[in-house]
Amino acid sequence: MRPPALFRASLFLGLLFAACQGLAAEYVIERMKDNVYRFTAGNYRSAFMVTDAGIIATDPLNPRAAAWLKDELARRFDVPLRYVIYSHNHVDHSYGGQALNGDGVYFVAHRLARADLVHTRADTRIPDITFDNEMTLYLGEARVALRYHGVNNGRGSVSMHFQPANVMYVVDWIVLGRMPYKNLKGYDIQGMIDSTEDILATDFELFIGGHGDAGDKADVARYLAYLNALYDSVRDGMLAGRSLAQLQDDIRLPEFNELRMYDAWLKLNIEGVHDTLIDKSYFDMRPDVPAN
Ligand SMILES: [Zn+2]
Repeated sequence: MRPPALFRASLFLGLLFAACQGLAAEYVIERMKDNVYRFTAGNYRSAFMVTDAGIIATDPLNPRAAAWLKDELARRFDVPLRYVIYSHNHVDHSYGGQALNGDGVYFVAHRLARADLVHTRADTRIPDITFDNEMTLYLGEARVALRYHGVNNGRGSVSMHFQPANVMYVVDWIVLGRMPYKNLKGYDIQGMIDSTEDILATDFELFIGGHGDAGDKADVARYLAYLNALYDSVRDGMLAGRSLAQLQDDIRLPEFNELRMYDAWLKLNIEGVHDTLIDKSYFDMRPDVPAN
């Protein structure tokens, strides 16, 4: 039996309302410091900076999120989008570029990130401008310093330092308030540590991540302490001949148990470092490391 028309209409309106609520909750723009803003889409975040001469945006995240962002930028600000900078090659951050495309909008990425998008025939806007080690983009009274720190996650992953607001934006290889993602797929743990040390040696006041919380230098230092504790305990365990299962049973690191996903992901983080030491450092081929 079909429900009465009035009931069907109110059900439809109710669902529509719920969908709009969901969209509003899923997409958020926050002013973080001076002219630097954070765009949140679900578990993903990007940053953008607004100047008198236009807007510099970063990761589009995905086509739907980027389309929402483009409309919001046009609605809130009276200046055009001028640059879009990809943090790295991974498609869960770099897709949606077409939605931000337009006349006079330049797309920027590290040379290796662009090369990966081309080699893999990625379905996003391919960058126009690349760099190798560092590049500064100037727009109006502001600028953003882009820096490559070597391998850490994906290909061509760079930090973005917005000035004069003094805000640092890094995606994936620094995450505050939460454990690094599951089994560290695509990560180079030594590179993450080295790159994070680089960031800590830079002067910045506010950190914005592509996931997790915003924070300050002390928060980034605490994240680095976790990476080092995780890496050291897995490496030392493997050097002593412990198996992955033994490492996952032994290693606890309770001083970091306030991090979100600590219980769910600690064993996966251990697996990630263990596998990296085999894949990248050939621990399984070392005669001085006991087999297990
Ligand atoms: Zn990510």
